[in-house]
Amino acid sequence: MSVKITDICIACGACIDECPVEAIVDDDDSPNNDGAYFVYNDKCVECVGHNDAPACADACPTEGCIVWDAVVDGQAFRDDIGEDKRSSHTPVVE
Ligand code: SF4
Ligand code: SF4
Repeated sequence: MSVKITDICIACGACIDECPVEAIVDDDDSPNNDGAYFVYNDKCVECVGHNDAPACADACPTEGCIVWDAVVDGQAFRDDIGEDKRSSHTPVVE
């Protein structure tokens, strides 16, 4: 499971310290080198066991920036989020 930061990220930094599992890296460390922050999907647990909802998305000021992505084998994920939302990259905060 994972959430994903899209390229509309303004690299404000509001999300990174909210992540309980240090899954987020800043634009300098992103493997995409696209000026956006990045979520390692093999680290992100969708805040399961930590917060009621993804803390990064709650903190993000950029509407629609953080979206649902595919479930990753072996990782915790929010089972109330359907495949429809994941496959269409629906914003976590709508
Ligand atoms: S959903 Fe939670 S665990 Fe995943 S990147 Fe955001 S803050 Fe970190
Ligand atoms: S809070 Fe949103 S806009 Fe700011 S760095 Fe994180 S993903 Fe990008």
